[in-house]
Amino acid sequence: MRSATSVALAAVERAGLADLFAKAVDGVRMGRQDGLRLVACPDLTAVGTVANATRERINGDRTHYILNRHVNYTNVCNKGCRFCYFARNPKDGGPTPYLLTSDDVYAALTARPDDRLSEIHMVGGIDPRLPLDYYLDLLRAAKRARPNACVKAFTAVEIDQIARVAGRTVPATLDLLMEAGLGAVPGGGAEVLSDRVHAMLHPNKLTPSQWIDISRQVAGAGLPQYATMLFGHVETPEERVDHLLALRALQDETGHLLALTPLAFHPEGSYLSHLPAPTGIDDLRMAAVSRALLDNVAHIKSFWVMSTVQVSQISLWYGADDIDGTVQEYEITFPEGRLGQTSQSLSRTELEALIVEAGRNPVERDTLYQPVAPSETCHA
Ligand code: SF4
Repeated sequence: MRSATSVALAAVERAGLADLFAKAVDGVRMGRQDGLRLVACPDLTAVGTVANATRERINGDRTHYILNRHVNYTNVCNKGCRFCYFARNPKDGGPTPYLLTSDDVYAALTARPDDRLSEIHMVGGIDPRLPLDYYLDLLRAAKRARPNACVKAFTAVEIDQIARVAGRTVPATLDLLMEAGLGAVPGGGAEVLSDRVHAMLHPNKLTPSQWIDISRQVAGAGLPQYATMLFGHVETPEERVDHLLALRALQDETGHLLALTPLAFHPEGSYLSHLPAPTGIDDLRMAAVSRALLDNVAHIKSFWVMSTVQVSQISLWYGADDIDGTVQEYEITFPEGRLGQTSQSLSRTELEALIVEAGRNPVERDTLYQPVAPSETCHA
């Protein structure tokens, strides 16, 4: 009987990807054409085998997870992105807009004091009425509640907004945010770095070059940042590849990107609800293409809340080395009414079991991907 490895290598040969597999094994950088071949290749096993070679070269069989908590401080937003159903503009008359106070955030983060948390992931919509002090108070409340957790907060879009409201430069604003407790910057806001997609779907938000510029300033402030790619809407295969290459070029310059999370677009409930829902095949392919092209970003994350647990497990053989974390409360992905159908939290034990079942080696990490020693006080 043939081993799984020989079947996978035969698939690579059959698909005509042997040269890309050799590049992945040897750590030779792939070009735009290589990326386009991986996006177009109908043999997903072959694409995954190429990505897995890079994954194992960089991360071995380690698979990361984190004990984290998500806080979405408001769903009010004036940006009107066509793919978004999380945001509620007060003028829309849609479901209730909400705004958390810093006391709300403190209360939420201290409600289960025995749960160890390494990271608080805090993002929200763009409400132009919120002053600088609101954002600073959120950070202080989060740090007061969880002094040992890293507060990863505010995408480049929010940072731009906070700087405008404060009447300060981005670097001066970042200084204030860091003083109040900001420890890292999440991905998000870039979607697909394409002027065409920007004009079609989110013209009121940062342009691709503005997003890159703010990310450079984040790096200049000494903050680590995550990156994402929202795919599966109106973007072309070329635009997917160019997004990854733009991030790779940024990383060559700054070295501050910790991970990329490819996020499949869920059309349900958005202005684009006529588009087909994402499939597991899309998720696996984009994890693989991201891993193969982004040779200078150490980690590719499959966010189980969006991909499903099952697809995230498989993605660990298609380039991903991280399945995010315990999460607890996540409202951005799915429209109201669908939240109850999707588990929003996994325990540490469950995450480890899922990774082991997938044949990988679980490693609890912190925001910077440093391993966290197992603790007997962990009740997550
Ligand atoms: S994606 Fe973000 S910026 Fe765009 S409308 Fe939704 S919350 Fe606002």
